[in-house]
Amino acid sequence: MARISREYVRLALAIGQHDKDYVDAYYGPADIRKEAEGANLTLETIGRSVGQLSEWIKGVAADGNEALARLRHQYLEKQLSAMGARVRMLKGERLSFDEESKALYDVVAPTYPDAHFQEVLDRLEKHFPGNGSLVERYDAWRRSFVIPRDKLDTVFRAAVAACRERTLARIALPSTEHFTVEYVTNKSWSGYNWYQGDFRSLIQVNTDLPIYIDRAIDLACHEGYPGHHVYNALLEQHLVKERGWLEFTVYPLFSPQSLIAEGTANYGIEVAFPGHERIDFERTQLFPLAGLDPDGAAEYYEIMELVDELSYAGNEAARRYIDGRIDRDAATAWLERYALMPHDRAAQRVRFFDQYRSYVINYNYGKDLVRTYIESRGGTADHPERRWQEFEMLLSSPRLPSSLR
Ligand SMILES: [Zn+2]
Repeated sequence: MARISREYVRLALAIGQHDKDYVDAYYGPADIRKEAEGANLTLETIGRSVGQLSEWIKGVAADGNEALARLRHQYLEKQLSAMGARVRMLKGERLSFDEESKALYDVVAPTYPDAHFQEVLDRLEKHFPGNGSLVERYDAWRRSFVIPRDKLDTVFRAAVAACRERTLARIALPSTEHFTVEYVTNKSWSGYNWYQGDFRSLIQVNTDLPIYIDRAIDLACHEGYPGHHVYNALLEQHLVKERGWLEFTVYPLFSPQSLIAEGTANYGIEVAFPGHERIDFERTQLFPLAGLDPDGAAEYYEIMELVDELSYAGNEAARRYIDGRIDRDAATAWLERYALMPHDRAAQRVRFFDQYRSYVINYNYGKDLVRTYIESRGGTADHPERRWQEFEMLLSSPRLPSSLR
């Protein structure tokens, strides 16, 4: 397994030479990187080697009988299969949206008819009477919940501090863990965690578009605690440092690992701020720091909860767009109408589809699968201690998306 693991890392880094988004993080030995970069392998050669490695691992038993060792074996096998699919895509093979998500992320997300979203929109209509399209009325209302640019850093840091405190009360992290925050522009995403190894992350927040108050907690939990930063730190601590499993020093973005990463990062928001705790914190802390009227907090979150029911509308737009059933303008218009995204945000989202394609399912379907898995193991909202334990175990082990159901 050690030799397979090293070869897996080398091939992931070799793909990174052809696909700038593929290697999301690497903090393993420098000589493997040097070897991969120096070899200048063609996609043809990489594809053949991935195929050979996939055959090799099938004929090798897991190292030991321990559950974690078996998970490692299954995980590596599936990660390799996704790696082969990504290479075929880079060579020009076209997969449908669902074929691609199955091949890369090990699951197919459910499909919803337009009527499903229309029913949610009808409920939202009642909150925003008046003329013009619903998205215009919704956007006009929501504008008074934007964090002013000069208060953004203060608000974001307060959110991070709260998420960190709540997480550290439940999960033991290495004492040296920390991350830095940067504000950037001209990206297709709204936030990003770049894990750098040694329990450090760089978190970037995109300020191209206005940032609403709810994004402070969302981003702080998702990118930081108990989301990506904690996930990466726990994998490094338990699998890399304690066990020497080299494959976890590389994070190939277009792989099943991303469903676990995004799903836990999104589910982690409600783990850290269950029930009313979030609104209480927002009303008393974040709204005043942002200079917003705290009396609006309850209504704001009531609406946002409804809007959240539209999250799969984004998948529908992506599925139709990637499958070539609608063009860029139609995808943008669809997001405006069914996902209630103002025009500039919808256009940004379609640029995200261009860059990341079926990756979109990792956020909402990933979150739903993680919730199902944790609740099926007793980690319900009524049992917060159990929920944190199950959450930490999931973050610390190589579990496959298809095994969450
Ligand atoms: Zn993320």
